[in-house]
Amino acid sequence: MAQILRQPRMIDYLRVKFLRFFLLAIATVLICLGLAAFQQERIEASDASETTIASTTWQHGSFPVENFQSYTSPFGYRISPIDGKRQFHNGLDMAAPLGSYVRNWWTGKVLEVSDGTVCGTSVKIQSGGWQHVYCHLDGHVETAANGRYLLDRSGGIQIWQGQELPVGARIGRVGMTGRTTGPHLHWTLRYNGSYVDPALVLKEMFKQQA
Ligand SMILES: [Zn+2]
Repeated sequence: MAQILRQPRMIDYLRVKFLRFFLLAIATVLICLGLAAFQQERIEASDASETTIASTTWQHGSFPVENFQSYTSPFGYRISPIDGKRQFHNGLDMAAPLGSYVRNWWTGKVLEVSDGTVCGTSVKIQSGGWQHVYCHLDGHVETAANGRYLLDRSGGIQIWQGQELPVGARIGRVGMTGRTTGPHLHWTLRYNGSYVDPALVLKEMFKQQA
């Protein structure tokens, strides 16, 4: 009799133990997947940097902003100055007085002009495998029958989507559009779709141009 009573208890015990083990296994797998995805993002960003930056000729690149004052926020993971949360900062922040001209870093074609997002009024330019984005510019985007363009009237800037731009061309002015706490250029670089730390490119550019 005692044995009959004990048996189901043993089975319940095993069942609970198995369930715990099963849940723990699922949690472990999920954590591993999360870490792998996180690691992948970092690897993608640094891979493109290391393999392509050193082997590229940067003699013809232009520094992207006039009256540059300082680098105010680096590329990478950081605590947001706005909401205090950990976030991936996909570009380099370069402080300059309001109204300073922003210059095209590399000869290319305007992929997109945009406004109304956290990036503010912005220009995205394609140069071969490289994509460069300039955020928080002055002005706004207008739509005409023959396309869209960024207009900064007092800065004398009109940049059309699809337009070819030479290196060093003035493409906008430092403004306060989008999510920003002070006047600066947020500059983002991607190579074949992966983010690259703009500071690494600038460093190599300075080295070669010195
Ligand atoms: Zn930024």
